[in-house]
Amino acid sequence: MAAKVPLLENPYTPRGRWYKGAFHFHSTNSDGSLTPAESIRKYADAGFDVIGLSDHGCVSVVPPEWFPGKLLIPTGEFSWPHILHIGAKGRGRVREGSFKQVLARVRRERGFAVFCHPAWSNHTWQETMDAWPVDAVEVLNYVTEIENATGYSIERWDMMLQAGRRVWGFADDDSHFRPAYPQYGGGYVMIRAPRLTQDAILRALKGGSFYSTMGPEFHDIRVTRGQVKVRTSPVVELRAIADGVGAGQCYFSKRPCRDWTVRYDGWWAKPRRYLRLELKDTRGRTAWSNPLFVRR
Ligand SMILES: [Zn+2]
Repeated sequence: MAAKVPLLENPYTPRGRWYKGAFHFHSTNSDGSLTPAESIRKYADAGFDVIGLSDHGCVSVVPPEWFPGKLLIPTGEFSWPHILHIGAKGRGRVREGSFKQVLARVRRERGFAVFCHPAWSNHTWQETMDAWPVDAVEVLNYVTEIENATGYSIERWDMMLQAGRRVWGFADDDSHFRPAYPQYGGGYVMIRAPRLTQDAILRALKGGSFYSTMGPEFHDIRVTRGQVKVRTSPVVELRAIADGVGAGQCYFSKRPCRDWTVRYDGWWAKPRRYLRLELKDTRGRTAWSNPLFVRR
């Protein structure tokens, strides 16, 4: 008899609008080339709704009028290990420490912890597993990919998930606006939240109601037993990635397509712990959904 088809949790059910967010970029408050005002201006002009200036070793105090009508969330990046602290309460210096110490501080302040660019840091498997409890891991760090081809940490993410960790994916620029690598806006998150307040955004981040992208968009994800319906911006490929042996399936469309159906009820496609989705557009850019965890 066929084994029962698992039910999947869907972090995208809460209603709300999609907000464009960037939480990893630097200024002259640490090792960036632009002043805080100049770097924030870049994200304001690029249409972002919510940002966090994440200088190394400090949480910058930023006047709201530098990002008019939008939301600034106090953020910092621990210098070692590289962990983003989104929603930091304590201002000023952010000290170095062990994973345990810095993550305890994020917890204490009820912030959101992102494990930055484990591939760029060349973290071993053991170190990757020591980075716990984190809320998310950078699957894409855009500027390090341009700098030295270490921007993608997708395999480390899957290994964390396969070890049973509930950790969301995250995409960031890590822009320093240096003359050699001035790029920004190539890796960001889209957050579905009922309103643009710090509380609502942090709640949506913690609940996984967001996705990571280089441009392609998820508009809606609906789950029934055995099937996931996905509405997207026009893309040519959808990949359903699961952790069962040989599980998962790629779907292709010759013309850019907006509606996709993933079936995971065949014996070959069954996830053990999670199923997650990736989109590819005609330019080869990717978007990553958060995992839809198998309901226990
Ligand atoms: Zn950084």
